[in-house]
Amino acid sequence: MDKLAIGMARNNNVRIYAVTTTNLVEEARERHGLWPTSTAALGRVMSVGLMMAQMQKGIKEKLTIQIEGDGPIKSIMVVAKNDGTVRGYVGDPHVMLSYNDNKKLAVGPAVGNGVLKVARDMNLKTAFTGSVELVSGEIGEDFAYYFMISEQTPSAVSVGVLVDTDNSVMAAGGLIIQLMPGASEEDIVATEKVVANLKPISELVNEGLSAKEIIEGLFDDAKVLGEKAVKFQCECSKDRMSQGLLTLSIDDLNSIIEDGEEIETVCNFCNEKYMFDLDEIRGMIDEKTNQDR
Ligand code: ZN
Repeated sequence: MDKLAIGMARNNNVRIYAVTTTNLVEEARERHGLWPTSTAALGRVMSVGLMMAQMQKGIKEKLTIQIEGDGPIKSIMVVAKNDGTVRGYVGDPHVMLSYNDNKKLAVGPAVGNGVLKVARDMNLKTAFTGSVELVSGEIGEDFAYYFMISEQTPSAVSVGVLVDTDNSVMAAGGLIIQLMPGASEEDIVATEKVVANLKPISELVNEGLSAKEIIEGLFDDAKVLGEKAVKFQCECSKDRMSQGLLTLSIDDLNSIIEDGEEIETVCNFCNEKYMFDLDEIRGMIDEKTNQDR
């Protein structure tokens, strides 16, 4: 099972988030039919999103991350919630790009230059939105820069997805280490040392370490404060999809009837398909006609 853990170290001057996401990234890969570099890009952003959603207080609060780049992936969209659920998709699911020298998946070039935007829904009324230019498109560095510029919190962000030869996800996870405002020079130096010696997060997950164990292995005094299960979960339903169809005009709905074939709508976030037959479309036309009266 995928899990997320939150911990503190150095007398509460360092805050740590760790998450294992192997299963949920694999679910995203299967749902969207992702190729390796698209899998890695979406998996990295979903891992960060889950950890960032824990930086908010309310359980119903929602975090939306949007990356727009000029690389072949085009865009990445992720919604994560404080309850440990996440969903997301990429502009082009079929990207396979690797570096020539080390054969690692080339997420940076696949994302390209562009912008990273974060919207936090505090409570249905207020939303905070921050945005920064992408540093490298490799995701980890981009979010470290975002935390510095947009939230004034020095952070090290490590995210990774290991893809197997059959394109399935072998290991995926994320780690965020943040310095709290009270951090001393000693805390900063100790943290820099930890970050400099850090193994890639996907390697730690692949070795079988849990989120809790990853945190405990970073600092001598690291303490885990809480742990929760995380998973891929969408909020779409046939009812929600019909709301979308109801925004069509009566003329458009009538032309569906004239075509004489049931129609299929697809959820962007999870690729779930919903069918609407002609009787259901006629019902919508009735509903809209009554509204107009
Ligand atoms: Zn969905």
